[in-house]
Amino acid sequence: LVIEDSTIQNETICQQLRLKNMQPISANNAVEAMRYLLSGIDIDVILMDIFLPQYTGYDLISILKSDERFSFIPIVGLTAFKEKDILSEILNLGADDFIYKPYNINEFFSRVRANIRISKLIKKLKETSEKDYLTGIYNRRTFFHFLENLTALSVRENKPLSFVILDIDYFKKINDTYGHDIGDFVLKKLAEIVLKMTRRADVFGRYGGEEFCLALPNTDLYGACLLANKIRSTISQTIMTFNKYKTISFSITISAGVAEFTKGMEIDTLVKIADKNLYLAKENGRNRVYPILESVTKKSI
Ligand code: GH3
Ligand code: MG
Ligand code: MG
Ligand code: MG
Repeated sequence: LVIEDSTIQNETICQQLRLKNMQPISANNAVEAMRYLLSGIDIDVILMDIFLPQYTGYDLISILKSDERFSFIPIVGLTAFKEKDILSEILNLGADDFIYKPYNINEFFSRVRANIRISKLIKKLKETSEKDYLTGIYNRRTFFHFLENLTALSVRENKPLSFVILDIDYFKKINDTYGHDIGDFVLKKLAEIVLKMTRRADVFGRYGGEEFCLALPNTDLYGACLLANKIRSTISQTIMTFNKYKTISFSITISAGVAEFTKGMEIDTLVKIADKNLYLAKENGRNRVYPILESVTKKSI
């Protein structure tokens, strides 16, 4: 992401990067840059002119480095002003590297590449620490980090938020009958199905073993039970086929416990309610969702 207010310089930098098979995105000011960043586009490194109109590079560095969504992206400052304190000021604010204009083109590329290398390593580390290695969905720690943020958002915006625990029925029997490797495939397949059935804003994670959890913003208890039932029904109708020594086909069922967050509620309490409901679903025959939909009143939201 090239942030430079001089159109000529911006275009020159982008052209040079393109010649080296990189795909630059150009922004002329901080607001435009922010729009690209918030769109979720995958950025490896930010090349930032320090003197920009409106918000300066100083402001933008401070903003990006204090926002956990962007703080890991390396920022390389660019400036033509060789005042003695600029370099240390920028680095102290959180910039990762610095290039004086006009620059030696070889040094410029070496620095850009070095920062992209670091960026890719950080992304890989982030991915490994945030995701569950088997299913590729969020691990428990990351899930609860998101859930915590979502509870705050729910209070701030006065919007509902629900939490669901999904648990595979008699999963031990799948492992015992077909082997642990097939059990692993089942977990992956289940994660795939649920991910496809959820919205972008929903957060899906592996709670542990054969248990999964969903955080559903803007969704009340009724809506959450509806979705949990849809997932339950889809899973029970999915024939899973695996090739081991011979072709194995079977289907599984899941049970789910649902809870709606209310203002002031501890996350532990939210989980306990969902857990209690999951227990009821198991006790009452499995392949079901608690609370049962018919017992939940539909609120207009
Ligand atoms: P219930 O219907 O009461 O939920 O019965 P269950 O058999 O699903 O529950 P239980 O808690 O007794 O067993 C869960 C099993 O999940 C036991 C464990 O071996 C298995 N499991 C947990 N993590 C993994 C995993 O990563 N891979 C595989 N293949 N199995 C796992
Ligand atoms: Mg400028
Ligand atoms: Mg379990
Ligand atoms: Mg189970």
